[in-house]
Amino acid sequence: MNLNAYYGDLQAVRNANIFVKKGEIVALLGANAAGKSTIVKSISGIIDRVEGEIFLNNQSIDKYTAHQRVELGIVQVPEGRQLFPFLTVKENLEMGAYTKRARGHLKENLDRVFELFPRLKERENQLASTMSGGEQQMCAIGRGLMAMPQIIILDEPTLGLAPLLIKKIFEIVEELRDLGITVLLIEQNVRQTLKIVDRAYMLSNGKIVAEGKAEELINSEKVKASYLGV
Ligand code: ATP
Repeated sequence: MNLNAYYGDLQAVRNANIFVKKGEIVALLGANAAGKSTIVKSISGIIDRVEGEIFLNNQSIDKYTAHQRVELGIVQVPEGRQLFPFLTVKENLEMGAYTKRARGHLKENLDRVFELFPRLKERENQLASTMSGGEQQMCAIGRGLMAMPQIIILDEPTLGLAPLLIKKIFEIVEELRDLGITVLLIEQNVRQTLKIVDRAYMLSNGKIVAEGKAEELINSEKVKASYLGV
């Protein structure tokens, strides 16, 4: 990858190398402005100035537009959820199935999402804007799953949620793993994230400063001192 990403003259990401294997849950961790969202946006193809190569299944995707990358199965659940507030839960989910590959599987995928999130089934006809933050996050993840991702990228799914709902979202991420779904999870919540992911990258000022298996990072003195307040 060796990714460099810029906003005008500002370099937001420097020489970042990350990979996610099929079926893995990998986290990208770091404080505000560390460059996490910029990496995600580079993968999704919505940053104008990116250097380096990005691969999906050993195929370079650099020449693909953002829309084509979604068609390939790179699906991002954006920070702040970005639901359609005046559409119902079901309509929001259906919007996720707009890709060619997912369109023909709408019914089975909707059933699958409702099975994973019974709360959404209960509220399928409710307007998205009237749901709690946690429910809206479930709806945003569900909408991502409707696109039949090869990899789903969750950008700070616990942001702004109460502790109980944060716990629920982490449980959902673990359920995604049980379903064999490949996940790149962006988080600031280092301690809780390292408990559930396989591997992680720690980002600071646009650079990867530590990486490895989650259990190694939890026990690393550097990570403990910088991120876990130990
Ligand atoms: P957060 O948790 O706040 O989203 P982050 O780790 O995702 O943080 P980025 O959003 O990737 O961080 O930001 C990395 C750097 O790029 C920051 O210095 C930020 O100010 C800058 N930046 C982000 N978006 C833009 C933009 N659209 N234009 C100019 N600079 C930007």
